Amino acid sequence: MKVFKFGGASVKDANSVKNLAEVLKTAGYKNTFLVISAMGKTTNALEEVVKLYFEKADFTSKVISIQQQHIAIAEELFENSEEIKKEIYIFFEDLNAFLRRNKSPNYDFVYDQVVCCGELISTKIVSAYLNSIEVKNTWLDVRDFIKTDDTYREGKVNWELTEENFSRLQKNEFYVTQGFLGSDANFFTTTLGREGSDYTAAIIAYCLNAEGMTIWKDVPGVLNADPRYFKDTQLLNKISYEEAIELAYYGASVIHPKTMQPLRSKEIPFYVKSFINPKENGTQIGKGQLLEPFIPCFIIKKEQHLITLTTLDFSFITEDKISAIFNLLHDLKIKVNMMQNSAITLSLCVEDKYTQLDLFLEEIKNLYKVDLEKNVSLYTLRHFDEKSEATIHSGQELLRQIIKNTLQIIVKE
Ligand code: ADP
Ligand code: ASP
Ligand code: MG
Repeated sequence: MKVFKFGGASVKDANSVKNLAEVLKTAGYKNTFLVISAMGKTTNALEEVVKLYFEKADFTSKVISIQQQHIAIAEELFENSEEIKKEIYIFFEDLNAFLRRNKSPNYDFVYDQVVCCGELISTKIVSAYLNSIEVKNTWLDVRDFIKTDDTYREGKVNWELTEENFSRLQKNEFYVTQGFLGSDANFFTTTLGREGSDYTAAIIAYCLNAEGMTIWKDVPGVLNADPRYFKDTQLLNKISYEEAIELAYYGASVIHPKTMQPLRSKEIPFYVKSFINPKENGTQIGKGQLLEPFIPCFIIKKEQHLITLTTLDFSFITEDKISAIFNLLHDLKIKVNMMQNSAITLSLCVEDKYTQLDLFLEEIKNLYKVDLEKNVSLYTLRHFDEKSEATIHSGQELLRQIIKNTLQIIVKE
């Protein structure tokens, strides 16, 4: 079998869904497992619902607007949309019933039970649309297959159970299922982390021993920089799994960083292709050659914070101190993207996805002098040379570091 994944941008409206069907016809969909994300920015909108719910503010109008967006897409896709609309309403009734009845104060738990609707509804619509145009497929609830622990919002895959579940599946069919979702031992929904649908596709490819996996994007493939922030980007024709992992880890958001591990362990060929020009080759990721063409790659991570901790008593930054700081960061789910230390200072470039930075600073302020520079950008340049280094940014440089072929610069813009 082969695995295809289509992300939010490729199903953002009715025309995009029609385009997805064309891509399938061009690429062939026999013996294929199709993984689909929520439509457009639905996940962001559902995140907003959870936030409002916990703030005890009005979330119902937000829910209604998400529902209307899906209904409008369905009405445009189907000549007779009554059946699919009924299904969409049921999902929203379930969501409203959950929010009415829920007693759990656990934000992350509630988040997963709410946010999963995006993927469940998008796959229902796409699957029904494909069936209506004779692209016959079977819709699957991926939560019956991908089992995780109960780390809500960052579910850790139970590989043994997940593989066992997939082994029972009838092969040689065309399936449509959700990215991003799993379930825990009690069958509550878990999610695999934002943008996690690429990872879902890789989990499925691994469990099915797929012959290949393709993620279809709104770019020609993996470029040597994000075209939203850099001019004159170039397509990378081939990259090794190792190089792809490094690029994704440093923030090349075209591939979720966890995607490569399962694929590499079974050497499953991996392609990143354009859903706008599906006949083009795109990028091939596999064993061997690091990078072809061999050119510098630019990555930018925005909304970072630079924390500089200095010991109050002139004592050294020793292993025990670093260990205590990192344990605290880990507990608060604050991610460190770069670090540097000297005798009495430790500089950390962090990402505060769960808005816990104030808590961290509160805990640490009696032990260290704290300097904080909020909202900085972290630039990473792989395979740098003099020319690329000179053009990377135009802001004020706060810190730089070179590790082998990788240059990183923290910049205030
Ligand atoms: P999906 O629809 O699957 O969620 P994403 O939006 O997550 O797709 O990924 C595609 C986007 O990734 C592109 O539109 C582009 O802006 C961004 N991107 C970041 N880095 C790169 C890169 N090195 N090459 C190509 N695209 C990149
Ligand atoms: N819908 C989820 C998100 O927006 C998962 C994904 O798109 O990969 O994060
Ligand atoms: Mg995405």
